[in-house]
Amino acid sequence: MQKVLVTGGAGFIGSELVRQLVTQAECSVVMVDLLTYSGNLASLAPVAARPNYRFVQADICDRGAMSQLFVQEQPDAVVHLAAESHVDRSIDGPLTFVQTNVMGTAVLLESARAYWVQTAPAKQQTFRFLHVSTDEVYGALGEQGLFTEQTPYAPSSPYSASKAASDHLVRAWYTTYGLPTLITNCSNNYGPYQFPEKLIPLMILNALAGKPLPVYGQGSNVRDWLYVADHARALRQVLAQGQVGQTYNIGGGAERSNLTVVQTLCTLLDELQPREKPYASLIAFVQDRPGHDFRYAIDASKISEQLGWQPTVSFEQGLRETVKWYLQHPQWVEQIRGVAEQRLGLLDKQGA
Ligand code: NAD
Repeated sequence: MQKVLVTGGAGFIGSELVRQLVTQAECSVVMVDLLTYSGNLASLAPVAARPNYRFVQADICDRGAMSQLFVQEQPDAVVHLAAESHVDRSIDGPLTFVQTNVMGTAVLLESARAYWVQTAPAKQQTFRFLHVSTDEVYGALGEQGLFTEQTPYAPSSPYSASKAASDHLVRAWYTTYGLPTLITNCSNNYGPYQFPEKLIPLMILNALAGKPLPVYGQGSNVRDWLYVADHARALRQVLAQGQVGQTYNIGGGAERSNLTVVQTLCTLLDELQPREKPYASLIAFVQDRPGHDFRYAIDASKISEQLGWQPTVSFEQGLRETVKWYLQHPQWVEQIRGVAEQRLGLLDKQGA
């Protein structure tokens, strides 16, 4: 049974990946997470009692703790998702992003390398370090064009700059030390268990509370959306079949303006949880985010042609499932709403 060390597994995408690895793959998972505001062990409740799942609370920036973890656990692979992940928060406080995303990744790479060089040759061959990154490293697109794996990096926000830096470190550890790394750059994810600072869960929670739905500028910025289960499946596929040293773009082929996303959510809520006035009456345009990238769009042909991965959930179907999930999990929602509201103004910004 392959042992996979997953960092950031109490977060949105990490928890989906862990749930899939523990239940659908022949894997045992050691999940490492500091449990910052966005980490939530309740998202692992469906797998917490499984014998092939174990949680270790630790900081990826802690060299001693990371080194010990590798020595103790002897993993066959690492999937690195732990990060500060919210663009607005990176504008308000960039240094935490540099610390976690850049230093944390460097510490993890060094700890992985120290373990990898002394492991048995057969395991050295098969060991993998998969770094999970974002399409935001490529900067902004105009009306036309798609990001390919060859698109030069041009990050705009402290978040995307810190992720870009971490990608470069991962490449350097491959080129310089031969550590068998892989990188994925994925578009915006959505789905169950997402912390309500991001656009879709923020709008669902605000709408259900009858609060304004804050949309940046005119809502014309465009993002490509991918259902989180499809992303986790792509990560599993890259881990199993990806070529060492390579980068794979992952996208949903579902470009939507922010306003379209919010309007579609309102229509779904009108149907699934009707109220007196249509939910769209809550939409409120607010001052745009500084340095707001206009459009992101992904060319995912490499992963599709080389590994046979395709998204399976359409945006409309995924959004319906997501809204239903939030409606059916009031306990999870109330717990997370408490965490979100403690953070000043969190539910008043649009989210990314
Ligand atoms: P998230 O904020 O939901 O989860 C991040 C997790 O990392 C949390 O559980 C948090 O507790 C943990 N963490 C933070 N700092 C830590 C530290 N110092 N040590 C250990 N754990 C720490 O984020 P997410 O949306 O699930 O994103 C996961 C990864 O995927 C990130 O690397 C992000 O850059 C990348 N990504 C996200 C998206 C998206 O749309 N959400 C898209 C592409 C790539």
